[in-house]
Amino acid sequence: MARSTELQRAAAKDAAGTSLDPSNWDRFRETAHGMLDDMIAHIETIRQRPVWQRPTDEMRARFARRLPNEPRELGDVLDDVRTHIMPFATGNLHPSFMGWVHGAGTPIGMVAEIVAGGLNMNCGGRDHAGLVVEQQIVRWMSEALGYPGGASGLFLTGSSMANFVALTIARTEALGPSVRETGLRDCGRQLVAYTSTEAHSCIAQAMQLSGIGSANLRTIAVDDAGRMLPGALRAAIEQDRAEGLLPFLVVGTAGTVNTGAIDPLADIAEIASREKLWFHVDGAIGALAVLSDSLRGLFKGIEESASVALDFHKGGQVPYDAGFLLVRDGDAHKRAFAQPAAYLQRANRGLAAGETWPCDLGPDLSRGFRALKTWMTIEALGTDRIGGSIAHTCMLARHLAEALQRHPAFELKAPVALNIVCFGIRGADSEFVRNLVLDLQESGLAAPSWTTINGELVVRCAIVNHRTTVTDIDGFMDTLNRYLADRGFPPAP
Ligand SMILES: *Cc1c(COP(=O)(O)O)cnc(C)c1O
Repeated sequence: MARSTELQRAAAKDAAGTSLDPSNWDRFRETAHGMLDDMIAHIETIRQRPVWQRPTDEMRARFARRLPNEPRELGDVLDDVRTHIMPFATGNLHPSFMGWVHGAGTPIGMVAEIVAGGLNMNCGGRDHAGLVVEQQIVRWMSEALGYPGGASGLFLTGSSMANFVALTIARTEALGPSVRETGLRDCGRQLVAYTSTEAHSCIAQAMQLSGIGSANLRTIAVDDAGRMLPGALRAAIEQDRAEGLLPFLVVGTAGTVNTGAIDPLADIAEIASREKLWFHVDGAIGALAVLSDSLRGLFKGIEESASVALDFHKGGQVPYDAGFLLVRDGDAHKRAFAQPAAYLQRANRGLAAGETWPCDLGPDLSRGFRALKTWMTIEALGTDRIGGSIAHTCMLARHLAEALQRHPAFELKAPVALNIVCFGIRGADSEFVRNLVLDLQESGLAAPSWTTINGELVVRCAIVNHRTTVTDIDGFMDTLNRYLADRGFPPAP
């Protein structure tokens, strides 16, 4: 039931003095539409700009001013955005951005962010559309990853947080919910977890944050392709048990950050099941590749895990941030986080209805509507196109690897499992590699990054952008070849 029109009008007039809404809605509408048009043009013409440029001194100075007391025209503020922010963005919208595993976003996701910002929902709890949409994503991801009904899940900033939350659930299941009150010292035995030497550093950090300590994370050796060795995992668990320690968790990686390697998930699932360990998969890079028919088979065993962390903001192309955690046993998930608080009491009707709220499933209480940009992206594009675009980036990585192999100056440093290519330059030291990467970044022509493989600094290209094409990869090869030729290397054959 709405209030009477008369009352609405009187209240709106009252609000003009104190509310922070625009005093002139027509002018606001025009200014806002202008900004939207500029943003659309920015994305549409992204190829015409440098991949990245260094924030200028003038730009930095613009953000060193004192706290403003007085209002300014929104149009003027937006001019600052156009002049001082938009040209100095990360670069990940650009098809020649290959540094780090960054998604490129889509215009659909941008529109979703406008709606989400406009509705300004608090998705920590209560009975409203935000939670219904988030539950839809939980069911969709259960379906995609082969989980049974009853799984639970939630959006978090990224996989770093999702891995941390999963580790917390695993710890609580291993020691019982009382550990939430008593802490770790009371449990008497030392918890130990397992992951591979190629795991993302956030796994060690999750051990640190949890209070268990990263010294109690065993990093298991990998094969030549960067995949965890199941035999070494078995041996490490056995040794820890013999020493009276308490193994509780194994983290497999579906797409390592260095090379995109996929751990033998089915083997790890079997070991975890026999040893009664929580099997968590860090699927930040790879998990969404199950949306591609041609890639799904690489992830066999993921459906047997206890939990999966993934990032819609990487290959899923949802705008930052959109990390996600899926947990097979929804009750276990809730046992680790739900807490009684007077102001969070539930009711069977009204705004406080609903049995499980996202605040029962993670450390956040107030949280935004990340589910909307994810739902809109999946709904508008469909999983075939999203999966297809992930498969396309993997094809581009193979194309780049083949082009590199045709040139004697280059040397592949790791097999290409998904969409990451690591290579070295024969006869060049790490200083040369470092300069090559930085020179390319500063040239605005391309943005690769580097990493260390077997102690050696190598160039790393992560092809995550749905806008990247074969022509872009060939252009990148031309840039590389010219760079080497300018420095006395023999020309490309
Ligand atoms: C990116 C990444 C993470 C961290 O995820 P964020 O979303 O950046 O927090 C964890 N693991 C792997 C393998 C990653 O690639």
